[in-house]
Amino acid sequence: MTDKTNLLDFDLDGLVEWFAARGEKPFRARQVMRWLHRAGVSDFAQMSDVAKGLRATLAAEACVHVPNAVRDSESTDGTRKWLLDVGAGNAIETVFIPEASRGTLCISSQAGCALDCAFCSTGKQGFNRNLSAAEIIGQLWLANRLLGATADGERIISNVVMMGMGEPLANLDNVITALRVMLDDHGYGLSRRRVTVSTSGIVPAMDRLREACPVALAVSLHAANDALRDKIVPINQKYPLRALLAACNRYLSAAPRDFVTFEYVMLDGVNDSDKDARELIAIAGQVSCKYNLIPFNPFPNSPFRRSPAERIRRFAGILQDAGIVATTRKTRGDDVDAACGQLAGQVLDKTRRTQILHPVRELRQ
Ligand code: SAH
Ligand code: SF4
Repeated sequence: MTDKTNLLDFDLDGLVEWFAARGEKPFRARQVMRWLHRAGVSDFAQMSDVAKGLRATLAAEACVHVPNAVRDSESTDGTRKWLLDVGAGNAIETVFIPEASRGTLCISSQAGCALDCAFCSTGKQGFNRNLSAAEIIGQLWLANRLLGATADGERIISNVVMMGMGEPLANLDNVITALRVMLDDHGYGLSRRRVTVSTSGIVPAMDRLREACPVALAVSLHAANDALRDKIVPINQKYPLRALLAACNRYLSAAPRDFVTFEYVMLDGVNDSDKDARELIAIAGQVSCKYNLIPFNPFPNSPFRRSPAERIRRFAGILQDAGIVATTRKTRGDDVDAACGQLAGQVLDKTRRTQILHPVRELRQ
């Protein structure tokens, strides 16, 4: 590795500071940011409107480094999935989901995750490390290049969701830096409404995100009462529903959208009864929200099954009859294991994964 500074680790303020330390004006930072992120140029020699002397300084002291794509898979439905090597045997994944009216990039924030949700294959791998800001924004940089984006062409990626591997709010500083680059007009110029952070509910970090960089918020609810949520989303033991819902309401006061998206994974016989649906209606009375029902995606050694399609339909119907917006997520990229909760499942060391697999919990009570 190099001891040069990776410029992808900076948002605009960080770049301005780095340039100022070298006697350069702020407009140079803006110029270079446009080359890096808008044009996707990593070779300083190509930055034609940057003064020659500065280009030499950049070549000597800085670099543009993104994780290496070691696998590129395309699903029959057009979903693309890249496996990125982040060193020391760690791999993360980035998924591009094309739709008629938008292109969504699902990016990772950590290698592994410490929060250990019962139904999540990332959680079962354990925590390896936080991604740097460059590794987070590097996923957008790289996806644009691999999808053939050009500086003056049509935008291919219109939306970003932080729903890949990891808990973004457990790596908040680096996530905030990356978010700022996504939103910056000199960076990717994405609308705040089209950038979504998904969290399992780390309450103090939700407040920090609201203050530092409010974007659209998705919260992984998955259970409508503390007794069940304590078991399947263990962070609930620290920040129970009452605290979580209060944090959602505080967040909404600054959010670019006037609702929170509650994600709800449909687990057969665990959280999919009519009673669960009625409890979700009560929650919707406390927070302006939409529900996104996610059919569970199985992975090896998982104790859960996906709720039958008819059960999901009925569950959604109960919410909808109460006037609540409830959508059911289409499963995309199934054939390349790009669906929620399956990321990097096929590449990591299976032996290790089995060893750290937790005993099946009794969830049916
Ligand atoms: N850590 C964050 C974001 C990453 S997970 C969070 O938990 O919100 C993105 C979404 O996929 C979350 O709602 C998560 O609960 C869900 N998910 C995890 N494993 C899943 C699985 N096996 N099937 C379906 N959804 C899953
Ligand atoms: Fe971590 Fe999210 Fe998976 Fe829970 S669902 S283990 S928070 S990645």
